[in-house]
Amino acid sequence: MLSGKTALVTGSTSGIGLGIARALAGQGANILFNGFGDAAEIERLQAAVAKEFGVRTAYHNADMSKPAEIEALVKFADSTFGGVDVLVNNAGIQFVANVEDFPVEKWDAILAINLSSAFHTSRLLLPQMKARNWGRIINLASTHGLVASVQKAAYVAAKHGLVGLTKVTALETAQSGVTVNAICPGFVLTPLVQKQIDERAAKDGISNDAAKKALLSEKQPSGEFVSPEELGALAVFMCSDAAQQVRGVAWNMDGGWVAQ
Ligand code: NAD
Repeated sequence: MLSGKTALVTGSTSGIGLGIARALAGQGANILFNGFGDAAEIERLQAAVAKEFGVRTAYHNADMSKPAEIEALVKFADSTFGGVDVLVNNAGIQFVANVEDFPVEKWDAILAINLSSAFHTSRLLLPQMKARNWGRIINLASTHGLVASVQKAAYVAAKHGLVGLTKVTALETAQSGVTVNAICPGFVLTPLVQKQIDERAAKDGISNDAAKKALLSEKQPSGEFVSPEELGALAVFMCSDAAQQVRGVAWNMDGGWVAQ
């Protein structure tokens, strides 16, 4: 379905981004990886995806909080693959504290990585997508783009902002072959959530398993984590011809979280 096309997945060295990159590669897309991590491990990951799916892969280490590095990433995509057809804005971080205790530098970093980076990649890549009259932009928001939780001011603000950016960009491309949508996962067991589980286990003096159950039971009625593979399948659908008129949605995959 996506053979001959290129997908840039930001923050794809781990978790959901990696799951989506693998799903898109499974449809034949070449993958431009981005994110932090051990250089040898990233090299191995790139080679494994290229081999398993018979696609081309590359990697760029842009720090998504830095507009100049995002410009370099887009230039690299142009010179390496001749552009980007599918843009998945996935890089993200979390930090929890009450508003009055929230470190200012954490607020700035979360807004830059979780929200502004998607503005920069979109503004830089939309002209080429519009020129080709085909493109897909998928923004990884969150249930926290739709509803709030305590201690997550920066994350909730950034994700609500990302849903807003998604709607505006979808309207501005509505009469073109470019679609723009957001995916809003509930809890997915990735390093980002494991950190919250570890903190919860330490604070409450409970086991890792008990902390997982406590986290899920507060928010996710299914009592189960969403998986990166399931989110990858949703991203693949959003890239399909059948999804041509799916525009500006914030699609939750959340075990029932926001139905409550
Ligand atoms: P993760 O920590 O496993 O992966 C985050 C990725 O982003 C990594 O590849 C990391 O290297 C990269 N990254 C972090 N800061 C970066 C920066 N400055 N520049 C470039 N890359 C950077 O987290 P995840 O759970 O897979 O999260 C992926 C996205 O999904 C995030 O936007 C997150 O907010 C969102 N999300 C996660 C969950 C969840 O439960 N895990 C739920 C809803 C939404």
